[in-house]
Amino acid sequence: MVTTHTLGFPRIGARRELKFAQEAFWKGQISEEELQITGADLRRRHWQNQHQLDQVPVGDFSFYDQVLDMSFTLGNLPERVGDTGGSELDRYFRVARGRSGQESSCCGVQAGEMTKWFDTNYHYIVPEFHQHTRFQLNADRLIEQIREARSQGFTPKPVIIGPVTYLWLGKAKDQSNRLLLLELLLPVYSELLDRLAAHGVDWVQVDEPALVTDLDADWRHAFILAYHHLKTSAPNLLVTTYFGELRENLQLACELPVAGLHLDAISAPQEVARVADWLPPHKQLSLGVINGRNIWRTDLEKTLDWLEPVYEKLGDRLWLAPSCSLLHVPVDLTSEQKLDPEIRSWLAFAIQKLDELNTLSKALNHGRAAVRKELAESTLAANSRKTSERVHDACVQIRIEDISPTLGQRQSPYPARIAIQQEKLGLPHFPTTTIGSFPQTRDIRQTRLQFRRGELTEADYTRRIQEEVQRCVAEQEALGLDVLVHGEAERNDMVEYFGEQLDGYAFSQFGWVQSYGSRCVKPPILFGDISRPKAMTVEWIRYAQSLTEKPMKGMLTGPVTLLNWSFVRDDQPRRETCRQLALAIREEVLDLEADGVGIIQIDEAALREGLPLRRSDWNDYLEWAIEAFRIAANGVRDETQIHTHMCYSEFNDIIEAIARMDADVITIETSRSDMELLDAFRGFQYPNDIGPGVYDIHSPNIPDSEQIRSLMVKAAERIPAERLWVNPDCGLKTRQWEEVVPALRSMVAAARELRASLQ
Ligand code: GLN
Ligand code: ZN
Repeated sequence: MVTTHTLGFPRIGARRELKFAQEAFWKGQISEEELQITGADLRRRHWQNQHQLDQVPVGDFSFYDQVLDMSFTLGNLPERVGDTGGSELDRYFRVARGRSGQESSCCGVQAGEMTKWFDTNYHYIVPEFHQHTRFQLNADRLIEQIREARSQGFTPKPVIIGPVTYLWLGKAKDQSNRLLLLELLLPVYSELLDRLAAHGVDWVQVDEPALVTDLDADWRHAFILAYHHLKTSAPNLLVTTYFGELRENLQLACELPVAGLHLDAISAPQEVARVADWLPPHKQLSLGVINGRNIWRTDLEKTLDWLEPVYEKLGDRLWLAPSCSLLHVPVDLTSEQKLDPEIRSWLAFAIQKLDELNTLSKALNHGRAAVRKELAESTLAANSRKTSERVHDACVQIRIEDISPTLGQRQSPYPARIAIQQEKLGLPHFPTTTIGSFPQTRDIRQTRLQFRRGELTEADYTRRIQEEVQRCVAEQEALGLDVLVHGEAERNDMVEYFGEQLDGYAFSQFGWVQSYGSRCVKPPILFGDISRPKAMTVEWIRYAQSLTEKPMKGMLTGPVTLLNWSFVRDDQPRRETCRQLALAIREEVLDLEADGVGIIQIDEAALREGLPLRRSDWNDYLEWAIEAFRIAANGVRDETQIHTHMCYSEFNDIIEAIARMDADVITIETSRSDMELLDAFRGFQYPNDIGPGVYDIHSPNIPDSEQIRSLMVKAAERIPAERLWVNPDCGLKTRQWEEVVPALRSMVAAARELRASLQ
């Protein structure tokens, strides 16, 4: 018999119950006890959802983040949290969210840094280390939840982050070598495992996804040290790896002295046979056979075709699971009553994935005949997806085949173009602009919502949004900005807005996935060939341009960002899908140009985060991602100025690819790095125009013109002044008008002073 389990279940709840409870608690509307009850209810419900499994995960539930939970379990809290009073949960949220001096009676506390969990869109709180960090076990939360699961009749399998990955995920604040802490960490892990054993735990899931990344000799050695230290501990350890191939770490992973290994068979299908061969005969092999981070239904017969021989070989040693924790998919497809039924039949959310797992295990245990109906349904769905006209559009295929290398090529090189553009646009030195969005007020949100619900006619809706555009343009004119934007009031989200207008995209109602803390995102579903039935932004931009003599920037989301922030079809390579998106955006760019728009910005906020986990795969990704951007952007005439925007602050390692995009102007986030970030651009001699952000839009602080001027002076030490633009770090949609107006006033004043100093 195969054993079935999951690596984790989404914790937010099918209706985002956790989010609403967290936020109510933070606002003081519910008590800690009420929040705890919501947590316990969700855990109970989620274990019930998983009742068919042989083991349920315990410890995957979290009030904010599983990595922060681990820091608490190990007693590794930043010193600044200290003994500032309050309950443990108070302290927990203090690290998670920070706390300002005003909010609490005592001093302010800075929130823990947040960063992306491997290559997913989930963000974790980075553990902080110092040379003097000491660990101390606090297993209460885990033990309590083990009791809870058992009292409800489940076999608990605690889930913890392994010691090496825990160190790997963190940051040494004093530049010390955090690996040196391993020696101190291991006894605490031993103690934890002993405690779990004392509570009758048989198996512990130890997550070590760092094994799918590039590890140097010290980190590899750390794995050996760690698991030799832990091998005497009583419970059986299942070391889990996910999100990628083990590659050169495969032997290391197979030989760790533990009782079992989990391999992500979705991202590493070609490693299954090798691991099955290499794994010593006393070890269990857990295979992640269902995609835990995408929403497509599994083709079960196809899976069985390769899985049955593995089962024959391994017998009872085989375990089945989704590839990774189900944290990265929405909870339940049955809530989706508005999705097109054909498209819905191709999907599986967390609960449906458990059903698939169950079907697979029954097929292995009792033969395919035992699940004939389920298999037939799965095959039917797979075939319908393969042949559906909704997915496959011959016209798109033809256009893709017609792509030639010249499509991504501007007419002339940058120096020639920029001269023509300057002649036409007549902008001053240090031109000022913004990144696109202006404050999204309550009114705007209300207007969009009413329109969506059918409570507003299209004409009324258009009029209201136009009023907002008027306000934006008037404010920008009054401020004296040089290149204006329309403000994006019609957009709820920079991906959804375009997805809704493109063919090949579908939208769920409840397909929420946790991004961090209480923040959830609902990625659009890119299911089929992409095409653009009609222009998406032209009318808004035309209207905005009609209100001013100043140049109005067209505003688009780029193909790579549309791809990286969607659930993407898995029946063709991502690069193919990205090319289709590129062609659709290209059409929009050309329509804008034909309408007389002289400056077009194509945002690629998510380009960097699509980088593969392994360095050796970067070039391949960058090659097709940059090509897609070039196809989207570069069909325009020389006189049309292309801008791109990226809101992150690491460019050193991809600067060459950024230069290959060949945008006339790139605006980036730099205000918090004190312009040091521009060193990458200087070192590379980046040739085109740059707008380094001078206003930190994440903060309510309003910069004065002197701060901005001095940032720009620093920028001018690195980049020739005639190639510099002056702009905020990112869009202004999360800020208030009262903050934005004075900040931009400072920005414009600073630009004027800089111009004066050039003369
Ligand atoms: N144009 C978008 C805006 O201003 C860009 C957002 C982003 O880069 N994340 O909101
Ligand atoms: Zn941005």
